[in-house]
Amino acid sequence: MASEPPAPVAPRRRVPRTDTVLADPRLSEAAARLGPALVKQAVHQAQDRVRAGEVTPDRIGDLAVGLLPDHATTLRPVLNATGVVIHTNLGRAPLSAQARAAVDIAAGYVDVEYDTATGRRDRRGRAALDALRAAVPDAEDAHLVNNGAAALVLAATALAQGREIVVGRGELIEIGDGFRLPDLLVSTGARLREVGTTNRTHLGDYRAAVGPDTAFVLKIHPSNFRVEGFTSAVSVAELATLDAPVVADIGSGLLRPDPLLPAEPDAATWLRQGAALVTASADKLLGGPQAGLLLGTTQLIDRLRRHPLARALRVDKLTLAALEATLRGPEPPVRRAVHIDPERLRERSAALAAALNARGLAAAVTPHPGAVGGGGAPGLALPGFAVQVSEALAAPLRRGRPAVVGRIAHGALLLDLRCVPEERDGDVLAATVAAARSTGLVDDRAGG
Ligand SMILES: *Cc1c(COP(=O)(O)O)cnc(C)c1O
Repeated sequence: MASEPPAPVAPRRRVPRTDTVLADPRLSEAAARLGPALVKQAVHQAQDRVRAGEVTPDRIGDLAVGLLPDHATTLRPVLNATGVVIHTNLGRAPLSAQARAAVDIAAGYVDVEYDTATGRRDRRGRAALDALRAAVPDAEDAHLVNNGAAALVLAATALAQGREIVVGRGELIEIGDGFRLPDLLVSTGARLREVGTTNRTHLGDYRAAVGPDTAFVLKIHPSNFRVEGFTSAVSVAELATLDAPVVADIGSGLLRPDPLLPAEPDAATWLRQGAALVTASADKLLGGPQAGLLLGTTQLIDRLRRHPLARALRVDKLTLAALEATLRGPEPPVRRAVHIDPERLRERSAALAAALNARGLAAAVTPHPGAVGGGGAPGLALPGFAVQVSEALAAPLRRGRPAVVGRIAHGALLLDLRCVPEERDGDVLAATVAAARSTGLVDDRAGG
């Protein structure tokens, strides 16, 4: 503290005033586009840099322009090079181009609950519900809420408040970030009647528990873990023989069986086996926006739709639009990533590695299993490949624009192209080269 250096020769008064900087036409144009707050924020950052003596005052306009964000959201697009298809931290399912276009249309005034033919009110989200019923003909009716958890909450509240839900002990799962389905169910005022043991539950366990106080029997697909060894669980078909309706949470949102994912239940099969109600997420294997699907009998769906809580869990128009386009439109990116031809993945990886090698960067193709992710098919390895590069590239790649997120394993960074749209392979290459240059791993003057 004794001998502080003299203050740099940039006293406060030499920092240009905010109004003066904002008069720059580039900044007034930006204020019209981005809103004044974000532009002011960039100006304040520029003033701080001038005050700190990093930049001379005459450069403040250029600096502020350079600090302007591109968009009014700070969410940054990520190229998912992890090989994990449904990556909760990266926003689960990416939407198809058609679903994105639908969101854009729905963003304005739109006939979401209006009949343009008659000029009267119409049932909200009719088109999305029609698309869902068409996709799952085994469901008599359908209803939509905000997410899979909300679907369970609505079912438990409307059907089981003050009564009992009979559920297998091995199916009481934590779904992530500390949220547990049993807590969620109990929070509705329903009581849980647990049956069986962690690894084995039999039909007799359920039969002994079902009684006059039973609202429904709940079957939950353990979507994020597997129990192996001495195990047994009771199928929906068997549960359907009990004297209570079966509510079944498939989680992953597969509407029909997928031969590549034999252990994943699907809505059509469980409905056909006798489930009165199936619940699922829309942003897992279905590949749509965040939403909760409820599929089942007209009688139960009607009770859910009329319950006051349904209004609080109502999905917005952006979701309705994206879901309809996902159901009626082209194959969503999630399905493509799960079903990608490993040979094609090998070719793309080899092309990326070769291009990196040509720019003086060590890179090699290595077998790398993809994963469905927290959204389903636990433990299933999807055959595939990745490009192995230096771990030192991981941080600059994450910080780049777009951010590229790979997987660090055994002291290397693995770039798996499974979840990268093929037309973006060039962006992964460019980002990796830029990251290598920023870390000095390749010479700045090297070609490319
Ligand atoms: C993911 C999942 C949920 C929760 O769904 P959200 O859409 O994340 O709310 C509930 N049950 C199961 C079996 C799940 O896999």
